[in-house]
Amino acid sequence: MSETPMSEPTVSIKSRGTITIDAGHCKGCELCIPACPPRVLTMSTAVNHMGYRYPELYPGCTGCGACLYVCPDFVFEVYRFEQPVVTEVSERKQ
Ligand code: SF4
Ligand code: SF4
Repeated sequence: MSETPMSEPTVSIKSRGTITIDAGHCKGCELCIPACPPRVLTMSTAVNHMGYRYPELYPGCTGCGACLYVCPDFVFEVYRFEQPVVTEVSERKQ
């Protein structure tokens, strides 16, 4: 754990990839929210063209792919980085 200039607690996350979210295909089932180990997905307040809320991504995705495997509507794509990337994210998001 380290401190930012604003003294906000942060943690280091090693990420092997990230995701894209095709919000237009989401049916709002929310299965992906608890499936995400670092808890960096949250449901939107806005709705898509079908009237469903959809997930939004906070910093700290590890590229684990859990959201991809749990989603019944193929909303997620996972991309792998060539080298792991370490990012500092707010401890409150963990
Ligand atoms: S699991 Fe898929 S369909 Fe369900 S809320 Fe998440 S992105 Fe939408
Ligand atoms: S790839 Fe893993 S860490 Fe990233 S949003 Fe999906 S479940 Fe969460």
